[in-house]
Amino acid sequence: MKSIFGILQYVKGYWRYAILNIVFNIISALFSLFSIAMLFPFLQVLFSNDSKKMDAILQMGQPEFHFSSESIINNINYILSKDIEAHGQIHTLIGICLFIVTTIFFKNLFRYLAMFFIAPIRNGVVKDMRNNLFQKILILPLSYYSDERKGAIMSHMTTDVREVEWSIMNSLEMVFREPIAIIISLVLMILMSWKLTVLAFILLPITGIFIGRIGKSLKRTSTKEKEKTGLLLSILDETLGGLRIIKAFNAENSIKQKFIKENNAYTRLMVRAYRKIDLSSPLSEFMGVTVFVVILYVGGKMVLGNQPTMEGAVFITYLALFSQLIAPAKAFTTAYYNLQKGLASTERINKILNAEVTIKNPPHPKPLNSFEKEIEYKNVSFAYRENEVGWVLNNINLKIEKGKTIALVGQSGSGKTTLADMLPRFYDPSHGEILVDGIVIKDSRLADLRSLMGIVTQESILFNDTVFNNIAFGLDNITEQQVIEAARIANAHEFISQMPQGYYTNIGDRGSKLSGGQRQRLSIARAVLKNPPILILDEATSALDTESERLVQDALNKLMKNRTSLVIAHRLSTIQHADEIIVMQKGEIIERGTHTELINKNGAYQRLHELQSFV
Ligand code: ADP
Ligand code: MG
Repeated sequence: MKSIFGILQYVKGYWRYAILNIVFNIISALFSLFSIAMLFPFLQVLFSNDSKKMDAILQMGQPEFHFSSESIINNINYILSKDIEAHGQIHTLIGICLFIVTTIFFKNLFRYLAMFFIAPIRNGVVKDMRNNLFQKILILPLSYYSDERKGAIMSHMTTDVREVEWSIMNSLEMVFREPIAIIISLVLMILMSWKLTVLAFILLPITGIFIGRIGKSLKRTSTKEKEKTGLLLSILDETLGGLRIIKAFNAENSIKQKFIKENNAYTRLMVRAYRKIDLSSPLSEFMGVTVFVVILYVGGKMVLGNQPTMEGAVFITYLALFSQLIAPAKAFTTAYYNLQKGLASTERINKILNAEVTIKNPPHPKPLNSFEKEIEYKNVSFAYRENEVGWVLNNINLKIEKGKTIALVGQSGSGKTTLADMLPRFYDPSHGEILVDGIVIKDSRLADLRSLMGIVTQESILFNDTVFNNIAFGLDNITEQQVIEAARIANAHEFISQMPQGYYTNIGDRGSKLSGGQRQRLSIARAVLKNPPILILDEATSALDTESERLVQDALNKLMKNRTSLVIAHRLSTIQHADEIIVMQKGEIIERGTHTELINKNGAYQRLHELQSFV
């Protein structure tokens, strides 16, 4: 139930359309009933061979009009008898037929108008939902994504949102349209025979109970189905990203088997889901007709009895109205099924939308607009998961004065990247704090903090866009001159100029049209253009060959000039001139000092250095 109100929250922004929709639905329902009610005069004409009865009606004169079925029937009979007397039966028949066609025309016209105004609601709600999801994905902390599979998130973005569009929005349409038709039909039916109507209303809900059962189980199936879709998307994503390795390791077959296995499981689930969905229509039809037959029997007895309590023509019109009621009731049960399926999707979407943003702006941020003095790590400890054994970082104390270069070295997995990731608050320390110019970074705005930093990582992160837009990424009002200047500093201008459309060449998915060194120089140009006072370089050259490493290292040296840098290096030769070298092991700092100091110490650094001198 909560989820339905969640959806209605989204509809709120579109209430104007909703009102138009409801108004046109009411008009349409009225016309629809009109057209059915015309069945009664039609039948009267067909069976009006009894001239004695007609004369009697005419003799009584125009009956008084009240809002009761008897008065309405008498009035209609009077008008018909007059018309037949003046122009003959065929003329009256033609009149009634034309009237029916006209009312049906208007019924459908207004029905279309109602739909016309629901289209923007339906699509708007889904658009808003997609936007909200995407925005949420952007603000959720990185830690969220190590727990959630990428495929699952893509599945929520695509299939779940589509599911909401199809199932929930179709059902909402029903919720707007059908009750109006049902209420109006009901009023008329009660007017015609309240006894039969009460009977129908005792019988109909019984059928509802059956249908509810299946609905619940359908919701469970849908949840499992979405999990499987997520798995399939994950495999697809990994496969597309890793095709090179899959081919090289002849792993096509095992990946294929993995996919086929998941795909089969998915198919089995879907078969089950469809069988349940398909059950709804036959089941509700059977139930509906059974109820209908009971009414047929009871009403028939009322018409046929020794003292008939109902006229035949009234009963037939009543049945027609009742049959009109079955369609919306059936639509309701179908909608109910779809709703169950859709609600499962909504719950998953809401899970993302309500996921806690653990890394966020403080309520009263302290200004941090420039970097003047120093960065300080104070007793920082960190674990990726709360109940993890041991720390990934253990009691780190570190000062980086403005203008200095600090290098982090140590074995892979010793926590260097984690340590660097804390500075732009990709993760927050579990214990301890980090200060920039004496301000605890948690107390400043994220945007302020991050605008002080430029980051170049081992894997260049580039987007499927032009060279220009990749360099000017995230910055506004950048001139071509500025971009070229940055590219020159990053040793990238030369190769960019040789590309087919120069700075306006598209670089492909994640920069796939470029070599590793070229990609890295674009990343550096991006950092140059941002011109941040603080630099974080995380093994920026380690994925490169010696030749491009030379170019990239040269670019990096230019970038680091006059800045404060935290450099993670795998090749010690590149950081020999750092102001301080920090040697890490298993999340702890085991040695620190300048290159010469550490070499003379004859410790871990000296051993690392020795190892690398041979290659
Ligand atoms: P380094 O950069 O020195 O190679 P990292 O900081 O990347 O080391 O990793 C330190 C430790 O934290 C490793 O044991 C690694 O397995 C773990 N780790 C890194 N990233 C994550 C993550 N997103 N979730 C859980 N554990 C992680
Ligand atoms: Mg690392």
